[in-house]
Amino acid sequence: MTECKIVEDLLPLFEENLLQEETTKWVNEHLAHCSTCRTKTNIELTEIPKPIPRKTAATMIKNVHIKLTIYQLLFVLLSFAFAMSTSIFTGSFQFILSYFVLGICTFYFYRNWILTICIAIIPIFIWTIYDTIASFGSYNNWYLQQMEYYDSIFSLFGSLIGGGLLMGLIHTIFTILGVIVVVLVTKSFEKEDTL
Ligand SMILES: [Zn+2]
Repeated sequence: MTECKIVEDLLPLFEENLLQEETTKWVNEHLAHCSTCRTKTNIELTEIPKPIPRKTAATMIKNVHIKLTIYQLLFVLLSFAFAMSTSIFTGSFQFILSYFVLGICTFYFYRNWILTICIAIIPIFIWTIYDTIASFGSYNNWYLQQMEYYDSIFSLFGSLIGGGLLMGLIHTIFTILGVIVVVLVTKSFEKEDTL
């Protein structure tokens, strides 16, 4: 209701087109959904610009989203490939380079470090848990074997998730280094531009 009072005060200026752009937009938005205030205006309501039809906006967002999802899928697949091909247990330290490059590519593309870290950590997390289970032979045997060792299913899950997180973090450190490199390079380019 207070909004209506403000609109009422602004209407004379609004009708003379003397309001600032932002305020005009706000009044228009209010008039679009408030019939009470609409009856108080003297101007033709057809002049009120209509907001972008929802369908168009939704389609645009959807298109961008699909494009992003395809790239995201590619990065996730790449990350999975890295997770599967490298393991510090086998003494291969190739993962340092691959995760570093993954960090550079995903951060350069998305400029979003949370997303970059998620793309890097989730596949290695899943893969580590799968790998741990698989390395103990068939699931049933492994489960029985583990239950003799762990006193409850919760501690078993805890150790699986803990192991996955640890491996995820070790690998992601190099992804974060990649992110840092992109940030530093971008900053140094920005400095050059301002000089
Ligand atoms: Zn109103």
